[in-house]
Order: sequence, then structure tokens, then C-alpha cells
Amino acid sequence: MVTTAMPKITNGISAVKHLPAEFYAPFFSHAANKRKPSPIRALFPLEGTPGLISLLAGKPNASCFPFTSISFTARSPTDPSQQTNLELDKNELAAALQYGPTVGEPSLVNWVFGLQEYSHGRKRGEGWRVSIGAGSQDLLYKAITAILNPGDAMLIESPAYAGVLPMFEHCEQVEVDTDADGINPASLRSIMQNWPAGKPTPKVLYTVPFGSNPTGSTTTLERRKEILSLAREYNFLIMEDDPYYYLYFGEAARPPSYFTLELEEPEVGRVLRFDSLSKILSAGVRIGFATGPEPLLTAMDMHTAMANLQVSGLTQVMVSTLLNSWGYDTFKIHTLNVSNFYREKRDIFERYMRKYLTGLAEWSAPEAGMFYWFKLLLGGEEEDSETVIRTKAIERGVLALPGTVFMPNARKTGYVRASFSLLDEPEIEEAIRRLRDVILEERAA
Ligand code: PMP
Repeated sequence: MVTTAMPKITNGISAVKHLPAEFYAPFFSHAANKRKPSPIRALFPLEGTPGLISLLAGKPNASCFPFTSISFTARSPTDPSQQTNLELDKNELAAALQYGPTVGEPSLVNWVFGLQEYSHGRKRGEGWRVSIGAGSQDLLYKAITAILNPGDAMLIESPAYAGVLPMFEHCEQVEVDTDADGINPASLRSIMQNWPAGKPTPKVLYTVPFGSNPTGSTTTLERRKEILSLAREYNFLIMEDDPYYYLYFGEAARPPSYFTLELEEPEVGRVLRFDSLSKILSAGVRIGFATGPEPLLTAMDMHTAMANLQVSGLTQVMVSTLLNSWGYDTFKIHTLNVSNFYREKRDIFERYMRKYLTGLAEWSAPEAGMFYWFKLLLGGEEEDSETVIRTKAIERGVLALPGTVFMPNARKTGYVRASFSLLDEPEIEEAIRRLRDVILEERAA
């Protein structure tokens, strides 16, 4: 076992009190309460009963499927010059080609259980489980649908990942401030202390704890602990959307996840965690996983059973074949390689930001993820930067994202998001030089 950065949990899990199933009842939306288990999928497990003849599901006969074997080649994380050919196990391939379990293919689900113990110190069978989704985006939407009704208040870090904002459009979005140290618990506390008497309190907080998209900030350990105790004090759930967990490249030791830290709380079960394989294996395999209390995942699974039945069995088994061939230590080496890759890109980006944009923009260097978030100092109104980015920057040949798309409640901002994931050094230098020219031109106007 690799021991670095594994969080130390001081109080044993057996001493931890898990929130009971009834605790979650008030958190469910009308949509979740109305859902019933799929009448067919609910009976799937019975098909394994010895001697039982199943006339149940419309499973196509596999003899009509043309696939006979599937293999692929993958680079070794420990020696990139080495490639291994991996063939899908015959039984797993047969299962993957058929309709499969709503929660995910067993080989991948088991691997994820092991990963959550390896990375977050959470033991299997202790009040939590996992579900596989078509990327974490799929699961975020299902969780939000299971929790929030139209008009419900919810807490959202601000700015926030643009991809979830439309999911919260039917809600009252209560913005929690963030800065270079991540989400700010003082802002959250002040919101809750001033919450109007008699008004239902927010059921959930949405936050990206590592390398936030768009700000790149990582929430400090102290702040995480405070957020967790506020969740207990004001009775809300935490949606920990963490696709950049394995892309942390900060100098300081990696802070533990909320999913880990909640073990230090008097009660466990407020954290619903979202992981993604998009940034570390492939975005196109569309695999993410949700980890958290059984009742919440059951509500999300009912959505899956209704909306898309399951994630592609084939990509799940392909991914689990690769991951099981690696084991967790090699997986960790792979993720360290990935985070080093992005650290180098960040260093290059930072060098040219300092060279060209000192005095012309404000930023803090990200410690995880793949984004820079910076304010253009145009000398005029802050809001002008959106127009400048959408027009003059493009005319000069540089495309970035105006920060307004990340603002809840359609607020304006002078910030801009730049992604550094794909560019090589000359492209980074040229992009930042072009931005400098745009800013100088605007300041001279
Ligand atoms: N959350 C955040 C913060 C993201 O940045 C992204 C990807 N851009 C996602 C979720 C969705 O990732 P996935 O590919 O796993 O659906």
C-alpha cells in the first residue's frame, strides 16, 4: 500500500453514529417520493435463484449478438514505453453485452468500493454504497432531482461549475462566497444566522472541494471541518463534486475529502460524493460514481431505472478490466502522473501570466484541476470584460470563457476562465500575449 496522503482517522468507525434511513425522508423531492422501483428491474435478483425458470425480462438472446471477444491495449503507468494487451473476461463480456444491474457492473462497483476505502478510508458495508453513472454529470442531475423541489432554497458556492447551474434553475440559489482557500464558512455561517425565521432552510450545499471549476481553488482542511459542522448545525447535506481530487498538485499535503472527514463528526451520512474517471482515464468512457448513504443512492437509482436503465455495460467492464489489472497502487501512480502533468502545465501558465499580465490582471495560481480564473484590469467597468472576451479577444485569436457563465443568479463578473489542459508552451505564451494586447488596447481606448 502507498501510504502518502492517506488521511488519519482518529476515532474508529465503530464509534461513529450513522444517520438512520428515516433521517433522509424530509430531504427527498416530490419527484423522488413519487418514484417506484422498476417492476422488472426489482425482480432481476430473483433470476439467480437455482432451479427458477425466468420468463421475466425482455433480454435479447446473446446468440444474436455479433461480438465474440473484445480486447484493447493500454499504456503502463509505471513504464509508459510498455503497452499491455487486455482481453475482456468471457463471462464479464457476456454480462456486459446484456442488460445489467442499475447500480453498475459488479466488477466496477467492487473496484470502486475498494477505491473509496483506499483513498478515503471508508469501509465497505458501513452505511454507504456506490452507483455508477454516465459521468458524474449524470449522477449530479439525478441527485439534485431527488432532493430539490421547485422553489426550494439551496446553497451553492459562487462562482460555481457552469454545468450544474441549469440544474438549480428551479431553485432559490443562495450563494456562498469563495476565495483562494475555497468555499468560505464565514459566509455560510452568516447566511444561516440571518436565515428568515419560519422559512424552510436549505437542504443541500453544492461544492467542488479540489481545483474548483472555475476558480481552481482548493478548500483548506480547517474550512472543510467548519463546513461539516455547519451542515450538522443547520441540517443540510453536502454534495461533494470532486472530479479534480486526483488532479491535486498543491505543495501542502492533500486535505482529506468531506467523505473522509465526516467520520470525525458525531453523526455520519450527510456527504454525497461524486467522482469522475473523465480526467484520469477518458472523458469519452462516460464513467463517474456517486458514493453516499444508501437511501439517497436508492432514490438516484430509481431515476436511472426510469431514464436510461444503466450505464453502458461494455465501457464499465472495459474500465474495470484495466483498473483491476492495475490494482490500487498502480492506479495511484497513474493519478500522480496525471497530476504532475497538470502541475507542469500550471507552472508554465503561471510563468507567462506573470510575464505578460502582471498589473493587467488579478489571479491566484490553482493547486488542482486545469483552470485559471483571473480578473481583467481593464481600467473601466468590471462588466466590460465579458464583451471584451466575447469580441476583441476572439478577433485577436484567443478564446476564453467569460466568468459570468459561472455565476449563480446570472450575476456579472469581471473574471475570465482559461483552461490550460491542452496547450503546449508556445501556445500558452501566445494566448497570454494576445490577452495582454487586448487588455492594453482596451485600457488605451
Ligand atoms: N463537475 C465538475 C466540477 C466538472 O468540472 C465536470 C466536468 N467538466 C463534471 C462535474 C462532469 O464530469 P463528467 O465527465 O464525469 O460527467
